[in-house]
Amino acid sequence: MYDVIVVGQGLTGLLSAIVARKQNKKVALVAKGTGKMLQSTGLMDLVPGSNKDFSQWMELYGLSNREKITVKDAINEFKRLTEKIGYEYVGDVDKLANVVTSSGHLKSTALYPKTITPIPEKGRIVIVGFNEIVDFQPEFLKGNLQKERPNLQIKTMSVSLGKDSQRTLTQLDAARVLDEKDNREQILRQIKEKMKTEFTDGVDLFIFPAALGVQQWEKVHSQFCSELKAMVTEAPGLPPNATAIRLHERLRKEAIKLGVRFYTDTEVNGFSKKGTINEITIKMNNRNAKLESQHLLICTGGILGGGLEQTAKGLKETTLQLSVNKEGAYVDLPDHVYPVGASLGTNVIHYGITGGIYSVVSSYLTNLQIERSDMRGLQRA
Ligand SMILES: Cc1cc2nc3c(=O)[nH]c(=O)nc-3n(C[C@H](O)[C@H](O)[C@H](O)COP(=O)(O)OP(=O)(O)OC[C@H]3O[C@@H](n4cnc5c(N)ncnc54)[C@H](O)[C@@H]3O)c2cc1C
Repeated sequence: MYDVIVVGQGLTGLLSAIVARKQNKKVALVAKGTGKMLQSTGLMDLVPGSNKDFSQWMELYGLSNREKITVKDAINEFKRLTEKIGYEYVGDVDKLANVVTSSGHLKSTALYPKTITPIPEKGRIVIVGFNEIVDFQPEFLKGNLQKERPNLQIKTMSVSLGKDSQRTLTQLDAARVLDEKDNREQILRQIKEKMKTEFTDGVDLFIFPAALGVQQWEKVHSQFCSELKAMVTEAPGLPPNATAIRLHERLRKEAIKLGVRFYTDTEVNGFSKKGTINEITIKMNNRNAKLESQHLLICTGGILGGGLEQTAKGLKETTLQLSVNKEGAYVDLPDHVYPVGASLGTNVIHYGITGGIYSVVSSYLTNLQIERSDMRGLQRA
């Protein structure tokens, strides 16, 4: 029997499993898919697609002022975790940063990896595209960015990754190409060659697709900064973005390293209570099996993650077959069952998406709740 079973391996599920394991719980994670993080930019927004500030975000998620300190603890814990796993996030929920996306629009975000630099008001910028990537068009990006930042001097260039392929490459393909030293060097040679003739006044910031390495991102980023003698940022856009893949891969690796037992390609399709114990039915390799736990965390992503389904009769909860209201929020939740992240229902999503900060905070708060419940149990015993 497990102390904690987490259902779902999106950002919420992975973080929940890691936090529970750090509290020395015996943890299993069951998931049938990968989670929406792989489709995201890898930026941790308060409310994606909006400029809502931290106070407005607290209000949106029904958090009281008293909980502010705990929310900040959750964010600091996330920053420490990302540093430990070798993909550090920086930034502040109180002071949102303006970062550029691959469409050239500025986006407010709270936390971002070190490969991202917020866009200044003034300065000389060069946008570098790769011929093989069609999702990132430097001239298009320039047009939009110039409207938002009229005082920037922006130029563009395109270079080749030098890889023949029968299809166009994605940001992730390019990132894997850049993991190789020889490839980086030939790309830097092309950029420097163009700089000699076309970009003679110096550059403050280079903008690239979100493709500056996966495993070797630190080497790629620092080599590009030092050889190009300027700051370098990635501009995430259409998935797959290396900015998000790096985080997902590292969180999964960390969870495995800490001893979380993974059941992947596995669907949870039933639930019952045996006294205080939660029992779930899992479908793995076309075979049903049962797992038991003291605590059950539902991190199934709500309407976008598959945890909720829209039917003719309204929203239906697909994982535990429990009742939900018209917003998809659980009614009469059994003891020791906790919806976390986007599985809290449609009232926690905005433009159809829950921001990464909510996943960070709700996974931390739920584990605190579990700790308190276990303490009360111990005191009674
Ligand atoms: C297209 C897109 C872009 C985004 N971009 C951003 C962004 O730029 N910045 C930002 O801050 N946030 C972004 N987000 C949101 C961010 O990734 C959220 O934090 C996230 O979607 C919510 O995470 P989650 O872990 O709660 O759910 P999900 O990521 O949806 O994960 C749900 C998990 O549960 C599993 N699951 C569901 N049902 C079952 C079942 N019955 N049995 C087993 N497993 C099950 C799923 O397969 C999956 O693994 C984006 C989201 C989307 C969809």
